[in-house]
Amino acid sequence: MATTSRREILGGLGAGMVLAGMATRAGAAPARKIGYAIVGLGSYATRQIMPNFAGCEHARLVALVSGTPAKLDQYGAQYGIAATHRYSYADFDRIRDNPDIDVVYVVLPNSMHAEYSIRAAQAGKHVMCEKPMAVSVAECEAMIAACRKAGTKLMIGYRSRFEPYNRLAIELARGGHVGPTRLITAEHGFPARPDQWRLDRPLSGGGSMMDIGIYSLNAARYLTGEEPVSVSAVETTDKADPRFKTVEDRISFLLRFPSGIVANCISSYSSSHNGYRVIGTQGWIDMEPATPYQGQSMSIRKDGVTTPRTLPPAAKNQFAGQLDHMAECIVNGTTPIVPGEEGLADMRVIEAIYRSAAERREVAIRA
Ligand code: NDP
Repeated sequence: MATTSRREILGGLGAGMVLAGMATRAGAAPARKIGYAIVGLGSYATRQIMPNFAGCEHARLVALVSGTPAKLDQYGAQYGIAATHRYSYADFDRIRDNPDIDVVYVVLPNSMHAEYSIRAAQAGKHVMCEKPMAVSVAECEAMIAACRKAGTKLMIGYRSRFEPYNRLAIELARGGHVGPTRLITAEHGFPARPDQWRLDRPLSGGGSMMDIGIYSLNAARYLTGEEPVSVSAVETTDKADPRFKTVEDRISFLLRFPSGIVANCISSYSSSHNGYRVIGTQGWIDMEPATPYQGQSMSIRKDGVTTPRTLPPAAKNQFAGQLDHMAECIVNGTTPIVPGEEGLADMRVIEAIYRSAAERREVAIRA
């Protein structure tokens, strides 16, 4: 494949030129797509992200980073990644010398996000990082600062923002389709299986809230388009359950927004939930399930009538959509719709949720 240097891409080739590719010059050569390195070949990376490069117009998988040599062999062979483009964590910083890598996508346990995002930025690469962005506000701020200093983009893997039903829900909720929003309910949870890093605080940074409750929080924020001013949270964790020695199980939290909207949210590691409802003065918008990998379902009640809302199949799924979005932002010099600041905003609220639960009081959230 003909490749274009990173300098050429960032230094002036127009989007059309890059995305239409070098085919015009090289004849049969395929389009130059933005190259991704995936860091951490776990469940999400290998089952959801990597297969979906196939549906991308502007992004391609060019490199792998793993601590497990057998995975580098297996996925390297499966995706046609040359040995020169396979890295261990120890030699991760050598990505600096690989011009095929434009973006480093960090899909590691949460407490490793900040380190690898910052090292990627220091290697001159754009950064895509999974949710939660990191495990503290301080880490999120350090990641933003590192990317700003390096002049690279930073995007957080909030895939629902590229999913058509969620996009429609945002449009309808913010547009007042069922009247001005008064209340949002949002629930996310699943029974956590034992013996995994998610239940080990040094790797996860927290329990259900960091992992799955963040979907309730993020939805409340994207459905309102507002930042919460305070939170009241209650944690319920059975410390006799061996899964919850170091992290929380359930947290209920109530967010107050500047316009007067209230969001009543649930996060759980011991029960299954996936949905939200936006309740306005004239009805509601219901999403159940709201944020799975596929199969979203929406119904709307307005003026006393409930109607299911079905969208035609999307040309591109949410995974390919987010990968392509970052690629287009790089080519066009624009800011991702879910930049580092979006992950930081969630983390500010998560820290306030934990404080509220610990101190058993309503906590103000600083902007
Ligand atoms: P996995 O446990 O399946 O994979 C994590 C991978 O990280 C491992 O396979 C391993 O890959 C690497 N790793 C490096 N160091 C460690 C360590 N000390 N302990 C465990 N793994 C290590 O996790 P997931 O793929 O489910 O989650 C990864 C990230 O993706 C998390 O931040 C999570 O929140 C996020 N996620 C996001 C989803 C979404 O829908 N947006 C869905 C699921 C997860 P290797 O062997 O290659 O080194």
